[in-house]
Amino acid sequence: MYSDPSRTVDVRVRDLISRMTLEEKVGQLNQMPAIEADFDKLAELAAGGKIGSLVLAWTPWAGAGGERQNLNVAENNRIQRAAVERSRLGIPLILGRDVVHGFRTIFPIPLGQAASWDPQLVEEASTIAAREAASAGVHWTFAPMVDIARDPRWGRVAEGFGEDPCLCGVLAAASVRGFQGDDLSRPDRIGACLKHMIGYGAVEGGRDYNVAEISQQTLRNVYAAPFRKGIDVGAVSVMAAFNEIDGEPCSGSRAILTDFLRGELGFSGFVVSDWASVDELRQHGVADDRRAAARIAFDAGLDMEMSSGCHAEHLEALVESGQISIEQIDQSVANILRVKFRLGLFERPYADPELSSRVFLQEDHRGCARKLAAKSLVLLKNDNNVLPISSRTKIGITGPLATAQRELMGTWTVDGFGDETVSIVDGFRNAGVNIVHIDDTVDSGDPLWSNVDLIVVALGEDHLRSGENASIAALDLPSGQLDLLEKLAVVGKPVVVVICAGRPLVLTDVIPHADAILYAWHPGIEGGNAIADVLCGAVNPSGKLPVTMPRHVGQIPIHYARKNTGRPDDGGYTDIPATPLFAFGYGLSYTTFVYSDFAVSRPSITALEGIEASALITNTGDVPGDEVVQCYIRDVVSRMTRPVRELAGLERVRLEPGESKRVIFALSASELGYWDRDGKLTVEPGRFGVWIAPDSQFDGREAGGEFEVVA
Ligand code: BGC
Repeated sequence: MYSDPSRTVDVRVRDLISRMTLEEKVGQLNQMPAIEADFDKLAELAAGGKIGSLVLAWTPWAGAGGERQNLNVAENNRIQRAAVERSRLGIPLILGRDVVHGFRTIFPIPLGQAASWDPQLVEEASTIAAREAASAGVHWTFAPMVDIARDPRWGRVAEGFGEDPCLCGVLAAASVRGFQGDDLSRPDRIGACLKHMIGYGAVEGGRDYNVAEISQQTLRNVYAAPFRKGIDVGAVSVMAAFNEIDGEPCSGSRAILTDFLRGELGFSGFVVSDWASVDELRQHGVADDRRAAARIAFDAGLDMEMSSGCHAEHLEALVESGQISIEQIDQSVANILRVKFRLGLFERPYADPELSSRVFLQEDHRGCARKLAAKSLVLLKNDNNVLPISSRTKIGITGPLATAQRELMGTWTVDGFGDETVSIVDGFRNAGVNIVHIDDTVDSGDPLWSNVDLIVVALGEDHLRSGENASIAALDLPSGQLDLLEKLAVVGKPVVVVICAGRPLVLTDVIPHADAILYAWHPGIEGGNAIADVLCGAVNPSGKLPVTMPRHVGQIPIHYARKNTGRPDDGGYTDIPATPLFAFGYGLSYTTFVYSDFAVSRPSITALEGIEASALITNTGDVPGDEVVQCYIRDVVSRMTRPVRELAGLERVRLEPGESKRVIFALSASELGYWDRDGKLTVEPGRFGVWIAPDSQFDGREAGGEFEVVA
């Protein structure tokens, strides 16, 4: 019956489980790495029903390595064939891979995607990533990473959508929809995995894998927010985090993986561990041995173990000794089998080895990558309108990233090809710019700049300086780069700085030497074209910061949604201002936008009613442009303290010169309320402030007012 696709998924799951031995059930809870040397062994394990899944990676730090790790479609098919044709019940494996920001067509790093504030485009990018990955036989991605990150020292800030729960939530949902679509069984869709549950972005000192200290309030209202949104749109899996919270490693925490994730957030998919995070319960000091690690993790609600084999070794014995019940095992197996059936793996277990070459890098894939990269670029400074560069300008290009390719793809690009990436120099060439001098070294400070009108200098981080296990303590440009900039600044020509990086760097010392600064993140395969599009004015910049940029590393953690405290006018630093260098939401355009005519639909509402806030946005400049319009609220008085401002909505609008549009934000309980200690969404009576603003700094350009929630 389970092999009959006309039956419902629940019927098929029940039937299949009723036929399985305990050993076969435990097999489903075991995921092994697809290490090339072990392919024969993996095929035998699959034939014996001892594995349920492969993680298509060969090292614990697959994304942090510099090299590509080719998928071997034929070998993966061979292992799958062993599971489907040689195992007793023929249950297919689910093959998981980190498809983090594109597969072969590499999009900007997720932090860059977040700077676009464009959920439609992020969804489109994930749809393309799913199509390419699925064509190579991937069923499931370990993405999106939705860890809120407020500490740019942490290298994995690159992999997430920034510091804000609302923006991360909107993009988490967009990304899950893009991967999974409406119908998971379509051959061009893959399962998503929200990771890492939870608080991994808050690791102490920004040091990877470290402890996270998070209050219940912050956990529910900040760190859980994007998980809620991803779960609401049906993400099929969640990955448990490496870190501990409140004295419990997440991978062994029933409070997190069951009570919170399933009880409060309503998750019904399956939970996978992070790489070896079950075995690591021993290092954390909560398990004496691997058997205890398996018991603690499984009992906490961790269904599938990635790569460390404790489940496989010990779950049978734990059931036999009565420490784990067979009902718990059946429940976990059902969680996984449901997804396998929904993905259509029983009907379509194999990949067509010929397909991917027809799917990769299609014109619209590259087109989307270019559009998304262009929208992700944040113009931080543009003195005297040195940008855009006119076609008559003779430019010189220098800096260590001027001709870089692999570096522009950023972290977690195991399937991308560096040589398919458009460098900044090539982007300029494609745009027909008059380049009279190119130099890509760091030491060429005083060269032949006399015949150029303007210098473009490409600085920043390579792809290995951010990502997993790549935290840094000082957020400066890599060594030598500031010296180069200082030398160029005295040449006497306008200097345009392009910074590619996996994190917000501290730019305090860069600013005085730059006439313009474009922050480009790691922009992906079309990075060079997108940068040239924006610098030359073919595209008006519209990216806005998804993270606060500190002026000094000592300000960290710094984020815009701070609390008022009892002494809001005091408590700064005596040596530097407490304000950021660039605020969350900030980004310039080649045109100007004016916010006016604020209105709320009603002066007061009850907690159950919604309200609309709106403002008129006018393009008062000479060129068309996109503006990312942001809506912020403040719950002025409530039982628990709330931030002085919180993003409650965002919308990108396109405006011709002189054109105005009224942008309306519908605010309901989910935007106005907060999650209280009992895990209930609460909208309390009282005054609310609401603002429609170009960014979070509130310097008079925003339009705002108040309304009241009445009992
Ligand atoms: C990372 C995960 C990733 C996994 C599989 C781990 O080291 O923390 O984010 O999905 O490896 O590659």
